[in-house]
Amino acid sequence: MTATAPPARTADVELRERILRLKQERRAVILAHNYQLGEVQDVADFVGDSLELSRQAAAAEVEVIVFCGVHFMAETAAILSPRRTVLLPDPEAGCPLADCATAEQVRARRAELPGVPAVCYVNTSAAVKAECDLCCTSANAARVVESLEQDRVLFLPDRNLGAWVQSQTAKQVILWPGACLTHLYVQARDIERLRREHPEAEVMVHPECTPDVIALADHVLSTGGMVRMAREGAAPTLIVGTEVGIIHRLQKEAPDKRFVPASRRIVCPNMKKITLEKVLWALEDMRPRVTVAEEIRVRALGSIERMLAVR
Ligand code: SF4
Repeated sequence: MTATAPPARTADVELRERILRLKQERRAVILAHNYQLGEVQDVADFVGDSLELSRQAAAAEVEVIVFCGVHFMAETAAILSPRRTVLLPDPEAGCPLADCATAEQVRARRAELPGVPAVCYVNTSAAVKAECDLCCTSANAARVVESLEQDRVLFLPDRNLGAWVQSQTAKQVILWPGACLTHLYVQARDIERLRREHPEAEVMVHPECTPDVIALADHVLSTGGMVRMAREGAAPTLIVGTEVGIIHRLQKEAPDKRFVPASRRIVCPNMKKITLEKVLWALEDMRPRVTVAEEIRVRALGSIERMLAVR
């Protein structure tokens, strides 16, 4: 007699139970970025944006942080929680935007711009954060730039977020030639078509989108801002211009609303490298670990702390 394979849903439930059991044994917290697969979000203790998650992890009474996201996010958790073990379930989950700036490149550019402060987006390596004066998120980038005394600011690595900041400030924002390839899939013509198809909808896009897309949006928001808009906004339908993984979160937050992705192609292949199996293996093997050399960590932490001091 041939054995029948268990239905996929049963296998998922078993996997989930094993993860939750091992999580207790290891005294671990599981964090999932808003762009993670739905089943990974559902097994996490916290779902959110990278900095919000790292701050939650720093405040939690745990020994292990399993970061379901990409490499710079796990590094940020390691910067804020140096005594904890930080696991990234797939070591290949990187961020092509963060890779657009290396520490050497930042040092070289800063040498060309004496006296000009450098603000780096949180989507950068720890080594790049260590080379910059302040870090920022997509939610506070304009405020961070405005907080500086100088009239010129080097902003890296995302040129689209930098251009958005430029539209919000009288300071001169010197851009870096980097971009998120995933957000380039949000196209102005798709927004125009979706507006015609959903006349009741409002459009919210992430500031990593290109300026022509941003010009068509009703709201330009970080992922945290999108979650708030889903909960509190009046529109019954929202067209969403960011990575499609966030739709899972938005639908849970506001089950009565309709969320339409600006394109089905806005999928970050790196975010999708984390699976439930890899989360389990990471907890079983206690690796892959992400660490940051202490000399870099201390300087990178300074750039994050100076951001947190901005009101
Ligand atoms: Fe990096 Fe873009 Fe993927 Fe976010 S969506 S992790 S910025 S490549």
